[in-house]
Amino acid sequence: MFERRMTRSVNVGGVQVGAGAPISVQSMTTTKTADAEATLEQIYALASSGAEIVRCTCNEMEAAEALARIVPRSPVPVIADIHFQHRLALAALDAGVACLRLNPGNIRKEDHIKTIASEARDRDVPIRIGVNAGSLDPDIEDKYGMTAVALVESAKRELGYFEEVGFDEVKISVKASDVRLMVEAYRLLADTVDFPLHLGVTEAGPPPAGILKATAGIATLLNEGIGDTIRYSLTADPIEEARAGRQLLEALGLRERSSLDLIACPSCGRAEVDVISIAEMAQEALTELDLPIQVAVMGCVVNGPGEAKGADLGIAAGRKRGHLFVRGQVVKVVPEDHMVDALIEWAQKVVSEGIDGALAAADKSAEAEAEADRAALLELQGEDVNDAEAIVEMIRKR
Ligand code: SF4
Repeated sequence: MFERRMTRSVNVGGVQVGAGAPISVQSMTTTKTADAEATLEQIYALASSGAEIVRCTCNEMEAAEALARIVPRSPVPVIADIHFQHRLALAALDAGVACLRLNPGNIRKEDHIKTIASEARDRDVPIRIGVNAGSLDPDIEDKYGMTAVALVESAKRELGYFEEVGFDEVKISVKASDVRLMVEAYRLLADTVDFPLHLGVTEAGPPPAGILKATAGIATLLNEGIGDTIRYSLTADPIEEARAGRQLLEALGLRERSSLDLIACPSCGRAEVDVISIAEMAQEALTELDLPIQVAVMGCVVNGPGEAKGADLGIAAGRKRGHLFVRGQVVKVVPEDHMVDALIEWAQKVVSEGIDGALAAADKSAEAEAEADRAALLELQGEDVNDAEAIVEMIRKR
């Protein structure tokens, strides 16, 4: 086995990156971030396919506002991808994102960069310096050409600005679509700094060639002990990115093989139960049964079945009851203290009879009962229990 390069650690919304933490899988949504519901749906699908951190573009104010609605309901930490406009980085911080990705090639004004880093420092939010060979700072490219040195110099210049304001919660990437250039740049970077590194071959293209290219670059570096978090950049449904990342780490023995895939919502102002304890109980019971199934544990019936509709099976809580759903369709409503038992019973049913068999066994009155619970909770709690609209107002006033 190769020894992993020791780095500092950064905390991306509860996922540790670097310092020997398990290498994490990232992906990026392809929805319009401004469409919060579609983006959340994709984030849930990505989380159930192995993504542990998800990045969303923050390319307009409407996207930043939507992030205020997405972040409290996302099952995994959300990173805002920022290009060109530094005020979008500030708005994304207001929205509560777990991390920013800045492209030093297109946010170049020193005072803008320092303002972002100061705000991130004050909020304890890390930043990825995301250097990309395709959008290098022109004066660096003029001086060094399109080389590994140029990519690393771009990262170092940004680091210099960060240091001046006392900010060091940083991870770095130096991506290129040319695999040899990318490998050379990361090797040089690993010799130069001790920050955690995010690996990727940018614009790798559609599968299967895209997967081969990305694997060639990422696996080469991982086998040298370099790399703390990875992303496959494929021209495909991002679920393929998440799956490929997970499979690569398992193939290299860097992550354990998983058969049960349990996802849980983070819980927010709408949660009707202690999501963590229900998820832990479900995880323990289902792991023991070793069922190859995706299961979602969701804190509320208002959004849970919709957010996790990609999961084979899920349960959402509301008004002291649990709504069991199969691929988003409610199949049974049970008392709250039977939630875990019901989940186990239906997990076995889904595995033995398949999705269609489980749907055919649905309680006829379940959807109507579920709808009544959802309507009653909405009436009671209102539309905005997470105070997202107040944050949106604050973003608008910036
Ligand atoms: S409690 Fe409901 S709205 Fe909140 S994160 Fe969980 S499922 Fe989503």
